[in-house]
Amino acid sequence: MMAVSFSAAGSASRPDAVVVGAGLIGAAAVLGLTEAGLRVCWVAPPGFDASPAAAPDAAPDWDSRVYAVSPGSVEWLSSVGAWRGVDGTRTCDVIAMRVSGDDGRSGIGFDSHDARRPRLAVICESSNLAYALERAVTARGDAVTRISGPVVELRVGERTASVGLSGGTTLRTPLVIAADGAASTVRELAGITVDRRDYGHTAVVANFRCAVPHHGVARQWFFGDAVLALLPLPGDLRSMVWSCADAHAAWLLGLPPEALAGEVARVAGGEAGSLQALAPACGFPLRLQRVSQLVGPRIALVGDAAHTVHPLAGQGMNLGFGDCRELSAVLSACGPQADPGDLGLLRRYQRARAEPIATMRLATDGLFRLFSSTLPGAARLRNLGMGWVDRAPLLKRELMAAAMD
Ligand SMILES: Cc1cc2nc3c(=O)[nH]c(=O)nc-3n(C[C@H](O)[C@H](O)[C@H](O)COP(=O)(O)OP(=O)(O)OC[C@H]3O[C@@H](n4cnc5c(N)ncnc54)[C@H](O)[C@@H]3O)c2cc1C
Repeated sequence: MMAVSFSAAGSASRPDAVVVGAGLIGAAAVLGLTEAGLRVCWVAPPGFDASPAAAPDAAPDWDSRVYAVSPGSVEWLSSVGAWRGVDGTRTCDVIAMRVSGDDGRSGIGFDSHDARRPRLAVICESSNLAYALERAVTARGDAVTRISGPVVELRVGERTASVGLSGGTTLRTPLVIAADGAASTVRELAGITVDRRDYGHTAVVANFRCAVPHHGVARQWFFGDAVLALLPLPGDLRSMVWSCADAHAAWLLGLPPEALAGEVARVAGGEAGSLQALAPACGFPLRLQRVSQLVGPRIALVGDAAHTVHPLAGQGMNLGFGDCRELSAVLSACGPQADPGDLGLLRRYQRARAEPIATMRLATDGLFRLFSSTLPGAARLRNLGMGWVDRAPLLKRELMAAAMD
């Protein structure tokens, strides 16, 4: 186990950047910024345990939070020294994906072979990824100072921003990165507004041992406004994400694990055979969030602080890694003498991220609306649409390329 602590009182003398938020994207932002040569102060909430982390191979259970990590994210995480810390015995390559419509006939198939790549994504537990990111941050040595927050105040001046923590510590820095998640305090203190829509849906997640082997194929079923995904894990394990109306989710979450396993097996139509639950399920309420701007004077938003999308495409965190990659590239390109919080520089980051974020928001929200529509003919249209896309190899290749970035 790694012993790393965020100190209560700050000792960072004017870091080049302050990163607020100790989730996966906060850690990735710290790596991206130090890669660009910046000295970073990393602020975690009080009591945050930076050693998530028994090493994953020592963990007896399977984390019910798993992510489909895109090849583009894997490549960037490798380049900043984080991916090598991932325990590969606990990840599973997705080599194909089959998506089914709600008429029992239509569907789309995606194959890594068609994308000319060895895999479409890697399924990785959250704790496995957190452990790898943490090790990579630790390897940055003195370039990173850790402090526990939370942040309660933000003042932006001509040359510096001041970040006030609840214990009375004030950090002065040219650049503040908000990586503090969907309910970002930093975003709010910076006066950046957010347009928020609750889907009225919850994602129910759980892991199962399955009688039928998955062969590295991810399965997804669209049933009206519900989406069920079974993602491959090593051996005979699969991870479920079932996004459905809140009332349905509450019912699923109230089932005993073996009853939930039976319900998933029934709805998956025998695809996975009989299921054995590994641990109780958890639920995550779903919402769409769009911010008015990604940057402000001496502030940049990354990860869920910057955008929250429906998980049906498994892309929210990949978008966040894309933010960190781009911010790192912009700061690296400007050279060591530049002011990292210069608004013109930060706007370059904003411009570069605008399209990928908007595309993912429109794609996931559009699919959600199409599948939840009860308008006459909508069901036929979406099932026909799936068939058309499936028979259009160029379009499919484009879709795969976007999801794999
Ligand atoms: C069911 C589900 C499945 C998903 N599957 C996928 C997938 O397969 N692939 C994918 O790419 N994405 C997926 N996502 C999206 C992904 O989970 C998120 O995009 C990602 O976790 C966001 O990480 P983050 O670090 O930005 O935010 P968070 O994980 O919310 O982390 C924010 C951190 O900031 C800290 N914090 C908050 N306030 C303060 C403060 N004031 N001071 C200091 N610290 C603070 C918090 O404690 C936390 O540690 C999924 C989402 C859901 C709901």
